[in-house]
Amino acid sequence: MILTVNNVSFSYGKVDALHHVNLRIKQGQTLCVMGPNGSGKSTLIDTILGIHTPKEGTILLDGKDLSQFRREEIAKHVAFIPQTHGITFPYTVEEAVLMGRTAYTGMFRAPSQQDRQLCQEALLRVGILELKDRPYRELSGGELRLVLLARALCQKAPLILMDEPTAHLDYRNEMRFLEILCQLCIRDGIAVLLATHSPEHAFYLESRGVDTEALFLKKGVPIRMGRPENVITEDVLADVYGVKARILSEDGQRAIMLQRSL
Ligand code: ADP
Ligand code: MG
Repeated sequence: MILTVNNVSFSYGKVDALHHVNLRIKQGQTLCVMGPNGSGKSTLIDTILGIHTPKEGTILLDGKDLSQFRREEIAKHVAFIPQTHGITFPYTVEEAVLMGRTAYTGMFRAPSQQDRQLCQEALLRVGILELKDRPYRELSGGELRLVLLARALCQKAPLILMDEPTAHLDYRNEMRFLEILCQLCIRDGIAVLLATHSPEHAFYLESRGVDTEALFLKKGVPIRMGRPENVITEDVLADVYGVKARILSEDGQRAIMLQRSL
């Protein structure tokens, strides 16, 4: 098991943010974590990254307790695509992607030829090689996401945590992002935790043959977990999001048609 979260609870002072969360992600699998704003998706990711210490429960990376890892060691096991990324230094895209290698090279050592090769491969894979010399801070929100994906690939970690990664992407880039995600799981056996606002992402991945699980959080409480087709139902969408929606199916892929708020 690449990631095991056992009975984890966490609170910010008196505000409970995660209640007895249990989940497991194995090689090649994507877990889609869903729930309304403030349901604890980002907190769960930060806890897996070791930024928050659970009040209760344990987190294992490759079977080893997270509390036994040094910080730079965690980066060899987990890559992270954050929701916002406030780099203010005038880095180029290439330099930003090379930061994915700092777990291996250390902060202050120059990147090796192999690091540059991995960076080049990641940029090609994501289809943004032409952005290589552009200043990172001048990118659009969508380009930035793709650069962060390239940085995560460059890190060569077996698990990637993604916090609403397609939030700023146009349709084509969203599609490309999901297609790359499928390849990463199916071809490379990468494990992914995807926090998303679109249950349709889970349907898409499932329809493309990715081993996909869905988890709904409501106020930090895991309320449903399982295969997307079993878990993402009209009743659950009403309960979790307070919307009336219909689930349609065409060409082996499910889609959600929103109808009204409840
Ligand atoms: P999501 O990512 O699902 O939108 P979050 O994990 O960001 O949810 O937030 C979960 C809960 O924790 C919310 O009630 C939020 O207000 C609270 N919260 C998040 N970050 C902090 C913080 N730094 N301090 C206090 N409360 C926080
Ligand atoms: Mg969030």
